Amino acid sequence: MIDLNDLLEQVWPIAAQQAMRTESVELKNALSRVLAEDVVSTLNVPQHDNSGMDGYAVRCADLQPGQPFRVSQRVPAGSSPQHLQPGTVARIFTGAPIPPGADSVIMQEDAVVNDDASVTFNALSKPGQWIRRAGEDIASGQVVLAKGSRLDAIHVGLLASIGVPAVTVTKRLKVGVMVTGSELQSPGEVLQPGQIYNSNEYVWCGLLESMNMEVRSVGIVPDNFEATCTALQSLADCDAVISSGGVSVGEEDHVKPAIEKVGQLRSWKVAMKPGKPIAFGHINRPGGGQSWFFGLPGNPVSSAVAFQLIVKPFLGLLEGQARNEVDWRSRMRKVKADFAWSKPDSRREEFLRVDVQSDKAGLFANQSSGVLTSLASSSGLIRLAKGQQVEPGGWVDYVSYQDLMK
Ligand code: AMP
Ligand code: MG
Repeated sequence: MIDLNDLLEQVWPIAAQQAMRTESVELKNALSRVLAEDVVSTLNVPQHDNSGMDGYAVRCADLQPGQPFRVSQRVPAGSSPQHLQPGTVARIFTGAPIPPGADSVIMQEDAVVNDDASVTFNALSKPGQWIRRAGEDIASGQVVLAKGSRLDAIHVGLLASIGVPAVTVTKRLKVGVMVTGSELQSPGEVLQPGQIYNSNEYVWCGLLESMNMEVRSVGIVPDNFEATCTALQSLADCDAVISSGGVSVGEEDHVKPAIEKVGQLRSWKVAMKPGKPIAFGHINRPGGGQSWFFGLPGNPVSSAVAFQLIVKPFLGLLEGQARNEVDWRSRMRKVKADFAWSKPDSRREEFLRVDVQSDKAGLFANQSSGVLTSLASSSGLIRLAKGQQVEPGGWVDYVSYQDLMK
């Protein structure tokens, strides 16, 4: 058996070394794409010192308690103010540029407008008050987003804020999916005796689509050597292919011999629970080249967890994502167990489905690798070392599904 960390160090670097192609996309199509180069701002955000409040732009040195001031100009957002006349104030609104000569803003709630339209202030001010400085958000020349970032909605907004209309990203990864099992039936069909509904395909395709990858699924493949070879070959033009089930060494498990026939296989028993047998290798393309291949176990929890911990980071790296983004281990944190775990597995590390509220982890009652509700009703995974026991109140390592989705 191989430890998960060792497996990751063998497999992830293969993806990270792969050269990827790039293209330019408009900002509105950039969500979930991976930046192929650093984005550097060519401007300051905000461009000018501007007001953080509706109120009056003043020169602090002029202020005297109780003294009325003439309002010498009005500065709405989007306008270009004049130099502030000495001994006067400017009416100003949120986001409007500070007039040259003014050094502070007094909010309108602290001002009284007199009958002759002059204003008297209830409070004094100090220089810089309610002024948002030019470049305080982003300075010209600053790297706003680094190469290898997968763009979320905030990132896309950040790019818009520096006026970038398009960005250079890596080409979308094309990922092939197949699910093996003669017992599998599609939702919408009537279950015959002994059949179960295929759920793994939906979990994977959903996760892949949420990363904006191009998914090509051939769906259900019966437990048959020829059919498995045919399905694998039909996906050979994808960048990577993932298959579920049939990856053990039973008579009905055809994935390993099939990969050996149509490409090359490495397989491991990974010392983790859930998710023991993992196959990795490639499928040869008829015209040359190859497609990376992962065969994951069919149990729904094993398949989803192995996908998140091993395959998804691999695909991210293959698409050009930075290692620090995909390595979920750096986002693990300590939480307090609200449960006991007294019979640990001495040979395999375990990933438990837990719900964390206020840093307290509650254990989902049924930790069987076939129980998909354990994933639906939990917020993340606890990682237990081989043989690690847990007492209520003890600290354990936790990673949330949200962090796994980066
Ligand atoms: P296998 O890895 O093929 O031995 O499958 C292990 C278990 O996972 C069996 O109980 C299968 O019925 C179940 N299983 C396999 N593929 C799927 C799938 N696509 N969706 C849901 N369950 C599956
Ligand atoms: Mg099977």
